[in-house]
Amino acid sequence: MAAGSGGLVGAAPVTGLSPAQIRNRMILSARVIITDHWPRQGQRDWCPICHCKWMCDPTLDAYAYLREVGQGRYVPPQMR
Ligand SMILES: [Zn+2]
Repeated sequence: MAAGSGGLVGAAPVTGLSPAQIRNRMILSARVIITDHWPRQGQRDWCPICHCKWMCDPTLDAYAYLREVGQGRYVPPQMR
């Protein structure tokens, strides 16, 4: 467990954005990743992107980031 800011999702320097805006973008990207990699109907526990057992690594990374910022309970709205 590294201290300090998490270096997930490329960590490209984004100019002209406040830390809060960058954080919001990271949260959005993490949610997009989770939604993309969410199992499709009839294929439970299977990632359609990675073609491996779900949860896959990108999903775990995205949830790890969301947990860090206190949004760890995210579920894609259309998947409930
Ligand atoms: Zn995946």
